Amino acid sequence: MRILIIQFVASAQGRPGPQFSHDLGVAAAMLRQEGFDIALAALNGYDGALLRAAVNQHRPTHVLIEVPPTRLTAAHHTIVDVAEKLFLPVIIVGRYATCQPEQAISGPGVIVLVRGEYEHALLRLFESLRDNPAWPEEIPGVWFNSEEGLIRNEPSPPVQELDSLPDPDREIFHYGRAVAQTGEATFQATRGCANWCAFCLNDWYISLYRDKGQYLRRRGVGRLLDEVDHVTARYDGVRTVTFCDHAFATDAAWVEEFATEYPRRCRLPCRCHVRLNALDQRIPELLARSGCRQVDVEIGSGSSFIREEVLALRTTRQEIITGVDALKQAGLKVRGSVFVGAPYESEVSVEETLDLLATLQLHQVHPRVFYPLPGTRAAEMCAENGWISGRAEENFYSGHSVLDMPSLPSARIDEIFRRYEALLRRRSGRSLRAWWQSLRTISTQPLHLFKRPRRPRLPHGPDRPWS
Ligand code: SF4
Repeated sequence: MRILIIQFVASAQGRPGPQFSHDLGVAAAMLRQEGFDIALAALNGYDGALLRAAVNQHRPTHVLIEVPPTRLTAAHHTIVDVAEKLFLPVIIVGRYATCQPEQAISGPGVIVLVRGEYEHALLRLFESLRDNPAWPEEIPGVWFNSEEGLIRNEPSPPVQELDSLPDPDREIFHYGRAVAQTGEATFQATRGCANWCAFCLNDWYISLYRDKGQYLRRRGVGRLLDEVDHVTARYDGVRTVTFCDHAFATDAAWVEEFATEYPRRCRLPCRCHVRLNALDQRIPELLARSGCRQVDVEIGSGSSFIREEVLALRTTRQEIITGVDALKQAGLKVRGSVFVGAPYESEVSVEETLDLLATLQLHQVHPRVFYPLPGTRAAEMCAENGWISGRAEENFYSGHSVLDMPSLPSARIDEIFRRYEALLRRRSGRSLRAWWQSLRTISTQPLHLFKRPRRPRLPHGPDRPWS
């Protein structure tokens, strides 16, 4: 049985390449272990010719599509082509299938979807199909369009022992190519998240798995580092190890073990995500001791109303200031993400965000034009206010706002986003050239050059970090 996985990736010029996904990689590894023939094709939108070429090359018996909520139109066209022109059965997985299952299963061409974590459900589904071509009806998490009607199966509890899962298959993502381009290897230490940010779909998963065991789960440090060893030995050119999960640093006891073990086993610098509303005071020093050089934090907005009420980031201004200061004092570079054009954004809230960023003096700022992900509470809020324009999902990757808000027109949001570096530079009074140079240094500096802890920098004057 041959399974072709279709993955939608960020827009790229030329032929799109696959992007590593931990969850898809784990599912592919489990299916391969059981003898299934797995291939993956990346699309950066609807592309009938590329789809047909992938099907001709791999000759699949089934097509598995990971549908992201940012690619619904492209995915719908693709699914129709697979089902009605190429006559192949389509199974969909991912956030869209999980959070909007009624809509997803009623799309033309979709026979089966899997809600929630999908590796075990897929394994059971394909094993059953291998033994008996009739679609099985009672697999947890699987929704099936049968002749008698729609069958909805409740998902099983999420996998409690993450260490029982195999390492993700990286070969289907041509991982060596990605490492050669970026010098980075990415890993995931946790599954689940205890937060419910309004711009994220995590709250759907929390509801789906309510009363079904622990939702935020963590791999053992040793098992995680086994994977790091394996990947860094296998792929030449890894210069940085990145832990992508947002809950990576939320358990101080786990981070303490990581801080002891990581430097023993890996000489490469690492980076991770830190939640400022869950920052145990021991975490900055532990991360610095582990070999972590840069952390990503979510600032969201300088407006307390937008950050706490609209985006539900549940992080106060004081927590942000105190947390960033503690991270910097431990010697960590801090990159902060902010939205431009979040719901209720105005000229005033843009100024508040720039003010907060100037106070924080981060090493890097990552502005993003807010995009209302379908299925999120933030998107519902925008729809209820009549702010969702006809401008569609292709804008997700292009930095153009899709919201029409009376408080800040979309053209102004786009302009602010385009000029964000200049606005911030003017506010912070620092040299853009020095800023970019400092960013390049973060990703190329060898670990042994990293000195810690550093004295806190003065916000202004000759000792400020960017001068
Ligand atoms: S912390 Fe990250 S993963 Fe968790 S709800 Fe917020 S955005 Fe989603």
